[in-house]
Amino acid sequence: MSQSLLYHAFGVREGYEYWRTEYGEGCVRFFLLCKPQRLVCPRCQSREVSRKGRRFRELQTVPIGLMPVFLVTEVPQCQCRNCGKRFEVSPLLPRRMRATRTGSKRLLKTCAA
Ligand SMILES: [Zn+2]
Repeated sequence: MSQSLLYHAFGVREGYEYWRTEYGEGCVRFFLLCKPQRLVCPRCQSREVSRKGRRFRELQTVPIGLMPVFLVTEVPQCQCRNCGKRFEVSPLLPRRMRATRTGSKRLLKTCAA
């Protein structure tokens, strides 16, 4: 899986870089990390930012064939060393996310790793 394939197949934009792929039972997850240059304080625009942790968002994206695909994106939790503001960084995600044709049941299906 290359960065350009992620861009073209799933509409992943700038701000994330490909990390790794995990194959679960009948599904695949692509992990994306937030690029360090995105860690800028929204209040004072300082780049003197400390990472305090992170969480992950998981979204279902377009399937590969019949296999459900999930994008797992990092959301860094940061604190500005200049002004002290705490914030999360979550660059825009692809707009191609959409419901599957089989309805909501499938959307709620969890992916066992
Ligand atoms: Zn700041």
